[in-house]
Amino acid sequence: MRILVTGAAGFIGSHLCDRLLAEGHEVVGMDNLITGSTSNIEHLAGNEGFRFIKHDVTEYIYLEGHLDAVLHLASLPSPVDYLQQPIKTLKVGALGTHKALGLARAKGARFLLASTSEVYGDPQVHPQAEGYWGNVNPVGPRGVYDESKRFAEALTMAYRRTHGLETRIARIFNTYGPRMRLDDGRVVPNFVSQALRGQPLTVYDDGTRTRSFCYVSDLVEGLYRLLLSDVADPVNLGNPQEMRIIDFARLILQLSGSCSEIEFVRPKDERTADDPNRRCPDITRARTLLGWQPVVPVEEGLRLTIEWFRERMAEQQVRA
Ligand code: NAD
Ligand code: UDP
Repeated sequence: MRILVTGAAGFIGSHLCDRLLAEGHEVVGMDNLITGSTSNIEHLAGNEGFRFIKHDVTEYIYLEGHLDAVLHLASLPSPVDYLQQPIKTLKVGALGTHKALGLARAKGARFLLASTSEVYGDPQVHPQAEGYWGNVNPVGPRGVYDESKRFAEALTMAYRRTHGLETRIARIFNTYGPRMRLDDGRVVPNFVSQALRGQPLTVYDDGTRTRSFCYVSDLVEGLYRLLLSDVADPVNLGNPQEMRIIDFARLILQLSGSCSEIEFVRPKDERTADDPNRRCPDITRARTLLGWQPVVPVEEGLRLTIEWFRERMAEQQVRA
């Protein structure tokens, strides 16, 4: 297949490009590098099956030649990023998805949307299955991300119903691994970099909120299976092992061998406003329809991630 990946220089996008190339597909990666980095895809330079185009997907996308699939991952998914760039977040979710869908329609290509567990907001149902419609505050600080993805899902279904486009919707739960930006503000890069620097781990509020963490290779496997499937309804992709953030911090301390303390902090900005209290995917649909479930235990995934962060931080020190 010839496949366009938007958000290709980001964390998940770059791993997905690697996987698609390994499967023998031709990949066009697109990114405006607002939060992504060419360092995530520099190893693909010289690969005949890969081409990178720097482009903002909220603008008209022109691409020569045929396309079999458009995988739309461009987004600003870190709470720190979307609080700083609320309008760009809404635009990439709304206008960017519109452009990517338009391109898929023009090329007769299959379209896969990288949606999110944030469509469930601060859920009142636990664990979250795809039939749950969510509890989102549209005017809160997280609304810019959540509503842009809800709109993106609605638009994807409208293209399916109106134009007969082949569509797939992945609702991705917290995913982590190598190539996350050290300073992207999400909990894994924060805790790991704090642990490795010997700084206190900043657990927000009392640390009793929960998340479920999926290693990136598992997630990419799920995305690939979904792409090849005929499942048009949204599918949760995530690891159903739920953890309290305080316990997650302790695990990172243990695995990194760090002597850092844990510090309970109340962020001054709005990053914990409407912060979901509990989050855990019900992955029955993915198990049943895709034969997929995560296989990497959180300890193993974290070890690989900590090692990667350790190497990157050592490189930064050498450069400085
Ligand atoms: P990321 O920030 O590493 O990657 C997103 C990429 O999109 C970046 O490279 C960024 O430069 C690019 N981008 C943003 N706006 C753009 C625009 N207008 N034009 C072109 N490129 C643009 O994030 P990620 O964690 O790799 O997330 C990838 C996708 O998965 C996103 O759609 C995100 O919403 C979804 N997702 C991720 C998680 C997670 O835990 N990582 C959870 C749920 C959903
Ligand atoms: N969090 C934390 N300390 C940090 C960063 C995040 O306690 O330094 C918490 C945050 O409040 C949330 C959870 O960790 O409850 C996951 O946050 P993240 O930003 O990774 O993603 P989210 O799941 O909220 O989109």
